[in-house]
Amino acid sequence: MGANARERAIVLGGGIGGLLAARVLADAYNSVLVVDRDQLTGTDGPRRGVPHGRHAHALLARGQQIFEELFPGLHQQMVAEGVPSGDMAGNLRWYFNGRRLHPAQTGLESVSATRPVLEGHVRRRVSALPNVEFLEQHAIRNLVTDGHGQVTGVEVAGEANQSRGQVLDADLVVDATGRGSRMPAWLEELGYARPDEDRIKMDLAYTTRHFRLRRDPYGTDLSINPVASPAFPRGAFFPKLGNDISMLSLTGILGDVPPADLEGFLEYARSLPAPEIYAAIRDAEPVDDPVTFRIPASVRRRYELLTAFPSRLLVFGDAVCAFNPVYGQGMTAAALQSVALRGHLQAHDEPDALRFFQQIAGLIDAPWDISTLGDLGFPAVEGDRTLKVVVGNGYMSHLHAAATNDPYVTASFFRVAGLIDPPQALMRPTLIAHVFRNDTLRPESLPQPVELEETREPARH
Ligand SMILES: Cc1cc2nc3c(=O)[nH]c(=O)nc-3n(C[C@H](O)[C@H](O)[C@H](O)COP(=O)(O)OP(=O)(O)OC[C@H]3O[C@@H](n4cnc5c(N)ncnc54)[C@H](O)[C@@H]3O)c2cc1C
Repeated sequence: MGANARERAIVLGGGIGGLLAARVLADAYNSVLVVDRDQLTGTDGPRRGVPHGRHAHALLARGQQIFEELFPGLHQQMVAEGVPSGDMAGNLRWYFNGRRLHPAQTGLESVSATRPVLEGHVRRRVSALPNVEFLEQHAIRNLVTDGHGQVTGVEVAGEANQSRGQVLDADLVVDATGRGSRMPAWLEELGYARPDEDRIKMDLAYTTRHFRLRRDPYGTDLSINPVASPAFPRGAFFPKLGNDISMLSLTGILGDVPPADLEGFLEYARSLPAPEIYAAIRDAEPVDDPVTFRIPASVRRRYELLTAFPSRLLVFGDAVCAFNPVYGQGMTAAALQSVALRGHLQAHDEPDALRFFQQIAGLIDAPWDISTLGDLGFPAVEGDRTLKVVVGNGYMSHLHAAATNDPYVTASFFRVAGLIDPPQALMRPTLIAHVFRNDTLRPESLPQPVELEETREPARH
């Protein structure tokens, strides 16, 4: 490696993925430049380049741990600034298959921060690093190469003056531009193969609105989350945000788009299997206009299967794998990738893209399997229903049913869903024994769709 081969790294995109990449690159490169088309610094609210940031975002337990490792004290700092925090299965109220899970103390913390708040905290930490700079309001146009398979920089253009491009030299370029990444097209233009893509078409939609509530549906809980399931395909995330404002993200799949008009939004909320949500918002004050975001498919780009790739170029975060967001995995997957990138940069003089992609593929497998298994539980979702998928979904129904009774089952489930334990941990003999001892999935106790004519009282334990 040349003397200056670790002079400057450029990160394309300053979202959560780009910020995490910049954090670990700052330990390995003399300088790091993060380029984004948005104004980032001083921005505390939603921004144009991250329209999904207006919708509910939760950081899984493993992500929380890695964020804390990379930014010590981050959690306490957010709590000190009024962000609610609590146990992810003890203080978040979860419904699966229309039934409330028994709360459980897991010791795994969850912060109820909006995406802009979380990103703002992380960004302030990254921008405080002495060797990290931001180039804002600049669109990334193209990669620049030496013509022999080595990336030497990127071409960018100021948002104010789109016509004039500017070349920025780099010893490493990391693409963290999210699910809209143009990397496959760039590779093709450079004469490389595009990566294969795995896709699960869910045609998912989120519609989100904020409310000032007149009564408290939470008690000691931070959030009320009926998760979509085949029997109850409409879902929601209803976190309180630390003042008297709550965010309600309604989710629908396969073209069932939660309406944006207030009347339709309320009716949709009324059809959820968590009646306390409708009861809380039916006379609440809406404080903003609703926004809808559609996600046609989960997309996993299989960069690890390529046999050739330009040198000094990596791909990161949603640009590699954009999950079905209802499982809350994207930011944690990016965090796992940042730990892998740190290890990779320590182990190799020169980043080896294909090896890096193989390393992160091993980390993406578990969350991808979890979300694919869940998605294929919906009969109308196209995909290969292997024996593993059929048996896995059958077992998960029993597990969720048992978790309505047994905190041990709830806690074990959230350790896997939070990416702390691998999915195989759900097959531990002790857990299987708990599942079958507490299985309430008998025909007579199967959940019934919510009655739309009346508002029921909140479920209690
Ligand atoms: C509706 C929804 C809800 C979600 N909920 C959760 C959740 O609960 N938990 C969770 O962990 N994850 C969730 N996710 C996923 C999560 O948002 C991402 O996985 C995570 O933010 C990492 O994304 P990223 O930084 O790789 O990409 P992004 O967040 O998309 O950021 C990409 C950045 O690149 C910039 N950019 C893109 N193209 C260009 C260009 N040409 N020029 C300049 N700049 C550019 C953008 O401005 C942006 O800042 C959700 C996603 C969606 C869609």
